[in-house]
Amino acid sequence: MSKTTQKNIAIIGGGPSAMMLAYVLSKFHTVTIYEKNNGLGNKFLVAGKGGFNFTNSLAGTELAEKYSPKEFMQEAILSFDSKALREWYANLGLETFVGTSGRVFPIKGIKPVEVLNKIKEKLHSQNVIIEYDHEFIGFDENKNVKIKFKDEIKTLIADYYIFALGGSSWSVTGSDGKWTKHFEEIGVNIIPFESSNCGVNINWDNHIVENHAGKPLKNISVTVDGTTLKGEAVITKYGLEGNVIYPIIPKVRKLLKTKIKVEIKIDFKPDNTIDDLLKRVSNKKISSKDYGKLFNLKREQLALIKCYTTKEEYLSVELFIRKIKNLSIPVESLRDIEESISTVGGIDIEELNPDFSLKNHPKIYCIGEMVDWDAPTGGFLLQGAFSMGHLAGKSIYDIINKAI
Ligand SMILES: Cc1cc2nc3c(=O)[nH]c(=O)nc-3n(C[C@H](O)[C@H](O)[C@H](O)COP(=O)(O)OP(=O)(O)OC[C@H]3O[C@@H](n4cnc5c(N)ncnc54)[C@H](O)[C@@H]3O)c2cc1C
Repeated sequence: MSKTTQKNIAIIGGGPSAMMLAYVLSKFHTVTIYEKNNGLGNKFLVAGKGGFNFTNSLAGTELAEKYSPKEFMQEAILSFDSKALREWYANLGLETFVGTSGRVFPIKGIKPVEVLNKIKEKLHSQNVIIEYDHEFIGFDENKNVKIKFKDEIKTLIADYYIFALGGSSWSVTGSDGKWTKHFEEIGVNIIPFESSNCGVNINWDNHIVENHAGKPLKNISVTVDGTTLKGEAVITKYGLEGNVIYPIIPKVRKLLKTKIKVEIKIDFKPDNTIDDLLKRVSNKKISSKDYGKLFNLKREQLALIKCYTTKEEYLSVELFIRKIKNLSIPVESLRDIEESISTVGGIDIEELNPDFSLKNHPKIYCIGEMVDWDAPTGGFLLQGAFSMGHLAGKSIYDIINKAI
């Protein structure tokens, strides 16, 4: 592409979705990222502190199934799925491996900051300009983008503006959701942010908090409103957290908005049927003191069951077995947005074209977690952000090419 056909691309926000878009377009156009922090990818680094799932081993349509609304995310996911993302990482010199439950990690020894540095090196090699400490503060009366740098307010002049401002959790990373009012001012509908991939608040008995907070509940299954998942939860001071809890949050969130009492049903022995457990007690005289050994239940499991059963149920071994298989625990609410792994809400998807440009402002795009979509943990969030950046980049590239 010649210099004269080069366009100016302004990306506002510097997370994974922005970096992917910058990578796609900077091979052909002048790309500038405006980030309010003094570094890119702060939330990416936070994600790296826990189990750093780059993506998931599910690919193609199986991967697309994990997103909601699926129809909205499908094209982005299918056109740049987990295989494509792993190849991209590999080209940057970052080998990956598939770990437990299909999560894809960088190979051992590679630190999150090294991953970020590799991506940044690539962007620098493609001449991406990065303006740190540049904060988006709204649109002027002509809908131009206003950016604050120190005490100066600049008006950006570019051919395309891509916003990648993130969701609203972990505001310390820069993704504070404060941008929503600016979009409302230009007539873009905003869906209020809510927690996703978060813990649930449960009104625990003091005994549970004092004696069992921090203990894991391994190999359990959890059912909410007909959906059952197997995995692990952790008892916390406020309720439950963990990989089996996060995927049921969309259902819990929906139910909490109704007047129906929301309950999580725990099966502590998902690999055993009620009959299997009954066989262990047939023709034996059982005391409740034997339950732990007999059913291989830990103190915290026994304590939870005791809290949510009547004395009569606890002392009858048959009724106790039914509780092992199906213990209902009422949920009060979701954990606060600030501490959740991701958020739903933000830019209403009805405002966007399939390539993530705004229907009423076609030169403005919105990508990543700032848009109202959802996915569980397990690598699907970063994959979603990268895929959106890739699709928007490709679309802008095609539009410019067609116009030449
Ligand atoms: C604790 C934790 C662990 C996680 N672990 C994983 C994981 O293992 N796997 C996974 O797939 N996902 C994980 N995630 C989620 C993942 O990190 C996010 O979904 C992803 O970073 C979203 O990318 P994004 O590009 O949309 O936005 P973000 O990464 O949030 O980036 C948005 C950027 O915009 C900037 N910005 C905001 N407002 C302005 C403004 N007004 N002006 C200029 N810049 C602005 C912010 O400073 C930020 O740099 C985790 C998240 C958390 C909090």
